[in-house]
Amino acid sequence: MSSVLKRLSFYFRPGDNSLSLRFPGARETAFRHYCFKQSVGLIRLGHFLGIFFYGSVALIDPYVIPTIAPVAFLMRFGIVIPVIVASLIYSFFMKNETVLQLMGILMVTSAGISAVLMMLWDPGVGGYIYIGGVLLVILYGYIFIRLRFFYASLAGWVVAISYLLAAFLKHEDWPVLISNSFFCLIANAIGMSASYSFELSLRNQYVTSIGMKRVNRELQRLSNLDSLTKIANRRFFDTRLDYYFERAKITSTPMSLIIIDVDFFKAYNDSLGHLSGDDCLVRVADRVRRHAKSSGDLTARFGGEEFAMILVDCPREVAAQIAEEIRREVMTLGIRHPCSPISTVITISLGVATWVPGKDGGSGKLVREADAALYRAKANGRNRVEMARE
Ligand code: GH3
Ligand code: MG
Ligand code: MG
Repeated sequence: MSSVLKRLSFYFRPGDNSLSLRFPGARETAFRHYCFKQSVGLIRLGHFLGIFFYGSVALIDPYVIPTIAPVAFLMRFGIVIPVIVASLIYSFFMKNETVLQLMGILMVTSAGISAVLMMLWDPGVGGYIYIGGVLLVILYGYIFIRLRFFYASLAGWVVAISYLLAAFLKHEDWPVLISNSFFCLIANAIGMSASYSFELSLRNQYVTSIGMKRVNRELQRLSNLDSLTKIANRRFFDTRLDYYFERAKITSTPMSLIIIDVDFFKAYNDSLGHLSGDDCLVRVADRVRRHAKSSGDLTARFGGEEFAMILVDCPREVAAQIAEEIRREVMTLGIRHPCSPISTVITISLGVATWVPGKDGGSGKLVREADAALYRAKANGRNRVEMARE
């Protein structure tokens, strides 16, 4: 038996997704929040339609159920429609999905049970006249107000059972009772299957949307990274530099920029090959990155064998110290350089510039100053730190 069920579920399951209507743990809460956001527009539309449909039936009450038309009018406009309006207002001002679901149950059951009460009250016509309304209320609960499967089924069955009990109490004929029970059963079956497949597809849609968000975040992260050294790329550096600069201005804190260039790197490539060159850049970048002390600091690959480091809230003297530490540490990496005229190992030259509150010029000026300092470091013999002129 269970293997037959498994096979059936295989044919009916949508793709590879689960058939369960519950996510584990906190994901269920997050789903309900998503559910509210996705469905609230349709839920409100369902409320408007409910008011319209339920209210408009009052037009035919005087012809169909003349003896209790005033009572029916009171029930429609004194109980059921106010409940729908209250739920509609709630959907605009409060965002608790579970409360909205419970209000949905209240709407459906109050509409259904008021029809049942009218039928009990009505001495004139038989209960069969009310079955149409009861079936519509059941289907409305399943389809129009986006109740989740569990809540919709609860409301649907409460209405159906109340109607059948009342019809039994009213001593309806057995053929009428049997056919009406059958209709209630079928209406609930149709509603349950529609509501189940709607909720399942909403859950699958939710799972897909989480996956897409993750993929997009990862793509965004990768698009900001340099593929070789795995530090930020020039594009990201350019977009962040202005932001850091404006922030430093607003907070009135100094900001420093270090530009770093590997010495005689062309010769290194020429003697050891491009792949060794790549490997060297990765090691240098890794060493430079470790000096980003504050979480706001940014290390980026500025160009081929050039790196840049933005140091937030960092005065000139501290930036000079950090630059000197980086220079020394790159040397202590001990990456052998077979044909550097100044050292047996890879060395770097660094230019440092600092913006202090009150100084004029923008981020472009800061880059030009750091670049000019780097140029002097090269001209003065390389493997050294030079500070921009104050
Ligand atoms: P200087 O001391 O004046 O900076 O001399 P240099 O040789 O380092 O500078 P130059 O600008 O003449 O050469 C830079 C070299 O960096 C040339 C280029 O082939 C190499 N380069 C740039 N990007 C990469 C890369 O991604 N991988 C490797 N292996 N080499 C690169
Ligand atoms: Mg260069
Ligand atoms: Mg160089």
